[in-house]
Amino acid sequence: MRITGTMFYYYFVCRRKLWCFYNNITLENESERVLLGKLIDESAYGREHKHIMIDETVNVDFIKDWKVLHEVKKSKSIEEASIWQVKYYLHFLKKRGIPIEKGLLDYPKLKRRQEIFLMVGDSERIEEIITSIESIVSQEKMPPTIDSKICKSCAYYEYCYV
Ligand code: SF4
Repeated sequence: MRITGTMFYYYFVCRRKLWCFYNNITLENESERVLLGKLIDESAYGREHKHIMIDETVNVDFIKDWKVLHEVKKSKSIEEASIWQVKYYLHFLKKRGIPIEKGLLDYPKLKRRQEIFLMVGDSERIEEIITSIESIVSQEKMPPTIDSKICKSCAYYEYCYV
């Protein structure tokens, strides 16, 4: 199974969202919030080579000199998910013989950035999460709603609650 960065991110956001995304219930394009994210992504770092698809699986925002991997986010609202998405990219590339020095989470709107490294034990955790993702998306039944404050700004809100 190809585990994309988006799937890794959604694992931390909401298992139901992860399941919907994998099973082609995609409403993301209709969400204004997602559109804003795309606009920021497209206007930030315009001169850099962006969106590198690796091994037909992960699509990283850009990698400066093949040393520093950048992931652009519009807000820090689900920071843990963003951090683990970048760690997943570092792990993914390392496994394929591409040792990246570090990741950078870029928040152009906030004018902030955060360095991300693979720490001791992270790779083991990532492998466990991959197994868990495979199990979640393969199950027949959609996971339950999470009734979280993040639901209100989720592209699937109407699908889940209305
Ligand atoms: S609305 Fe809430 S429960 Fe539904 S997919 Fe989004 S985050 Fe998950």
